[in-house]
Amino acid sequence: MNELVQLSLSDARDGLAKGDFSAVELTQAHVHAMEAHRDLNAYITEVPDLALERAKEADHNLGRGEAGALEGLPLGIKDLFCTEGILTTAASHILDGFTPPYESFVTANLKAAGAVTLGKTNLDEFAMGSSNESSYYGPAHNPWKRAGDPSHLVPGGSSGGSAAAVAARMCLAATGTDTGGSIRQPASFCGIVGMKPTYGRCSRWGIVAFSSSLDQAGPMTRTVRDSAMLLSVMAGHDPKDSTSADMPVPDFEAALTGDIKGLRIGIPAEYRLAELNADVAALWGKGINWLKDAGAEIIDIALPHTKYALPTYYIVAPAEASSNLARYDGVRFGLRVDGDSLDDMYTKTRAAGFGAEVKRRIFIGTYALSAGYYDAYYLKAQKVRQLIYQDFASAFENVDAILTPTTPTPAFPLGENSSDPVAMYLNDVFTVPASLAGIPGISVPAGLSGDGLPLGLQLLTKRWDEETLFRVAGVLEEAAGFTGHPLEGEG
Ligand code: GLN
Repeated sequence: MNELVQLSLSDARDGLAKGDFSAVELTQAHVHAMEAHRDLNAYITEVPDLALERAKEADHNLGRGEAGALEGLPLGIKDLFCTEGILTTAASHILDGFTPPYESFVTANLKAAGAVTLGKTNLDEFAMGSSNESSYYGPAHNPWKRAGDPSHLVPGGSSGGSAAAVAARMCLAATGTDTGGSIRQPASFCGIVGMKPTYGRCSRWGIVAFSSSLDQAGPMTRTVRDSAMLLSVMAGHDPKDSTSADMPVPDFEAALTGDIKGLRIGIPAEYRLAELNADVAALWGKGINWLKDAGAEIIDIALPHTKYALPTYYIVAPAEASSNLARYDGVRFGLRVDGDSLDDMYTKTRAAGFGAEVKRRIFIGTYALSAGYYDAYYLKAQKVRQLIYQDFASAFENVDAILTPTTPTPAFPLGENSSDPVAMYLNDVFTVPASLAGIPGISVPAGLSGDGLPLGLQLLTKRWDEETLFRVAGVLEEAAGFTGHPLEGEG
């Protein structure tokens, strides 16, 4: 394997600036890696020619001393971000052949900073799932395997293609989106860093909508520094998204001081579930000790409404999805299946275009929003959501950050949870509360399970305090010293 693909995003930036290698060489190395690992099905669309063209321009800019913050750095883009002139599928049959005439705000920021797009990464259909198995384009595979066991494992979801691509060195970093855990859970399953910013930090404009009050874009990287570096470019106010915050974007990399002395770290009792995997529980204990050894104060906290988070999420998210997905009618985007009448065309298009999980969510959401049930379900869920937010708000009066596991188990084999939606939904039990509360969270790879699979620990802070989040995450990363590589031994 070419050593250029082993660099972190920030080391690649520094190497380009020093002229150690060119953007074309760096991009070429990643194009080769993308081709070499096609078996992982991490990308739905590859755009190597565009990438190399862009890399040439980047070398030109670097040569003239006019480099942007991400000049010449090759990235994977989750196929939920609209990219001008490049097929955008949301991993759904219903978006067949949809090539947007516009660029999402986040990817426009990346482009303007000089980044190189390698292609569009695989995901669960419309970002609904935790295993990448609901993709119309087939599941992405986790590059990691259990020691001595050749079975394919899921990369997590919904940003499974991005996580697999970053872990397998098929891009330096990638974008993801997180509605209930879709950045943090796959990051944990693939041994990378996944960060969900405060709701409103990144504009949702041009990202295919799933659940508008929860969807948030964020970086997927191999180091905490890379995460901070990428978010600084992705974030920012956008008048085209009324929920995007008109706030300055700090230099998140500058927050990585390596010092957390005196910070107070909360440990929520409610996350100590009976079904918590023993390796995960042990790692959580280690994480607590690492932060304590670094000078933080550990404080027990209560988040009493945690047990209502999953049921609340599975009302709010499907309700908003059922409304957002009403636009796919066979007229404006992608697939059309002709029928005897307009209604028949709508019905046939939607029946053929949506997969089983998406249909399940549309049914649940339509029911929850229907006239007789709106108060009992959607309105009630919104009230519980407020209580969940208040739990966090009270906790943050006494602590600066919260430490939890990211997922209750390591990655599981393909097919293991696909016939039981509720078992699949349980993957998000530790990530969904922060999504409902709109607070930022990050998953940091912190160790391996007994059978050699990566495990992540999650940190949470109050809204708009990504700087403390990155600061603590940097210390956790350093203490954990996770250097695992999924493709060790491969040429
Ligand atoms: N796994 C969760 C779901 O299926 C979260 C998905 C996401 O964050 N996009 O809804």
